[in-house]
Amino acid sequence: MGIIRNQLRWSKSRASTFSDCKRKYYLRYYQHWGGWEDGASEISRLAYRLGKMVTMATLTGSAVHEVLAAHFRGLGNGQFRELVPDRPVEIMRRVWMDAKKELWRNNPKKYPPLFELYYDRLPDGDKLRGYAEKARQAIKAVTKLPIYGRLKQIDRADILWVDPAGGAFSERVVFNIPPYEAISVPDLIYKDRDTIVIVDWKTGQVRDQDHLQMEAGAIWARQRINGIDGPIRAYLAYIASDSIDEFPVTDEDCLKAEEVIRDDMEAMTDCLEDSERNIPRPEEAFPRQKSRKFCEYCEFQEICYSPI
Ligand code: SF4
Repeated sequence: MGIIRNQLRWSKSRASTFSDCKRKYYLRYYQHWGGWEDGASEISRLAYRLGKMVTMATLTGSAVHEVLAAHFRGLGNGQFRELVPDRPVEIMRRVWMDAKKELWRNNPKKYPPLFELYYDRLPDGDKLRGYAEKARQAIKAVTKLPIYGRLKQIDRADILWVDPAGGAFSERVVFNIPPYEAISVPDLIYKDRDTIVIVDWKTGQVRDQDHLQMEAGAIWARQRINGIDGPIRAYLAYIASDSIDEFPVTDEDCLKAEEVIRDDMEAMTDCLEDSERNIPRPEEAFPRQKSRKFCEYCEFQEICYSPI
């Protein structure tokens, strides 16, 4: 296996972290590097572990995504299996139990620490049941969407892409915004007659960057998936709140998105001491966020000296 290099590539989550808190960005994208290796420094090991941490809110979203990804992958392979609303709850329970046993001590990638247990912020029973109910409702909401009925009817060859889910990274998700590289992992792409539909399942609230994420997905799809030549529509399904944001993604939208991505990449490159090798400036060049609202659920509290 070749040596894995820490590469500077745009992604929506990377750009959001950079905009939210520079210190967190440094910890997540640089300090953590190599933290999985036997000879890693204590601080890198800790940053790596904290970078794998999930909150109950993010766990709810990732469990729902995992169940949907498995379902639509099956559909693409010609195997229809019912969507079971309890399935994400089973995943959440398993992650909770593994985190309680502190299995993250040996393998935080496979067994992520859970913020609420790690930082002793245990939610009460009602709140925990609320997360489980939210996951069930999200799955039920998908089955009621008109596109769900449509997806069961279309030729399986028209399901063009399903998120591998579970953080499986491959070069397939990389695309070019010269002179930079970027990453996009749409949840689902299918062809409906002449139109390409890019779907993203959202279990959180509407965010400003959601449209940019879909535009990045459209640029990626045009570059990396064969046969993406028709008009593209984005379908943002906010499945926890039963709302849909559906819109065309034009070539002009994509050009604007490319400019935003280039601007983000220039700003991130400015924080490097050595841009060829993606070596960052010293930690002090990445200031902590002054607004505490970003700190409340930040997984890096153990490293960051900012008192919460
Ligand atoms: S605790 Fe706050 S200041 Fe520190 S890394 Fe997290 S968001 Fe940034």
